[in-house]
Amino acid sequence: MAEVIRIEALTKNYHTDAGEVSVLKGVDITIQSGEFVAIMGPSGSGKSTFMNILGCLDKATSGNYFLNETDTTTLNKDALASLRNHVIGFVFQGFNLLARKNLIDNVALPLVYAGIGAKERKVRALEVLKSVGLEAYATYLPNQISGGQQQRVAIARALINRPKLILADEPTGNLDTKTSQEIMDLFCELNDKEKITIVLVTHEPDIAEYSKRLINFVDGRIQHDGLTAHFQASHV
Ligand code: ADP
Ligand code: MG
Repeated sequence: MAEVIRIEALTKNYHTDAGEVSVLKGVDITIQSGEFVAIMGPSGSGKSTFMNILGCLDKATSGNYFLNETDTTTLNKDALASLRNHVIGFVFQGFNLLARKNLIDNVALPLVYAGIGAKERKVRALEVLKSVGLEAYATYLPNQISGGQQQRVAIARALINRPKLILADEPTGNLDTKTSQEIMDLFCELNDKEKITIVLVTHEPDIAEYSKRLINFVDGRIQHDGLTAHFQASHV
């Protein structure tokens, strides 16, 4: 199986007024194509910092990061942006939709950056909106639909470049239990049927149980990396 992510001895420091702060202190991890990984850990343990580096939104201070078997540390800004756009879809806790744009335009936004024409953008946006069950709302604005529906739109936007990897940082953090379950069912379907690799941060054990592999961050290090409880139980 191909490696989607290989991280070796990764560190991240931030410069602050109070001096240098070490946030990631040597992280090693390999994630294979098709995996569904949950990341848990206390607030401030470095999960979002780690996800932002995985998503090429931020750079490590030291260490190696191979994404889709490409050494990201050797790429210039444009090459990195291009790799990110082709390989990764990012989903955030706060949905991050544009309030004045309808769902089609929100979902099609990554295609604008990819230089794809308006007609094809619309066709593909409708296609992915349909795949998350929101085709009927295509011309609505984000504030005309529910939170769960908004997160589905954000997932559709993440899917539009047909990524092999979805990174989601607390995607159910703003949603009620039932809506969270629906969003997790959608992630499971994308993992099962489309074979999209998923890495998801959550602080809810129930949400982590949708994954097969659980990684625990404590104080900038991986404290535990193994199968989730339900997966262990079903394979003994
Ligand atoms: P988590 O997502 O696990 O809650 P974060 O990765 O957001 O943790 O933050 C880890 C630590 O890094 C925290 O102590 C936070 O204050 C610090 N941190 C995050 N981003 C920055 C930044 N841009 N500058 C300085 N410190 C930061
Ligand atoms: Mg965080």
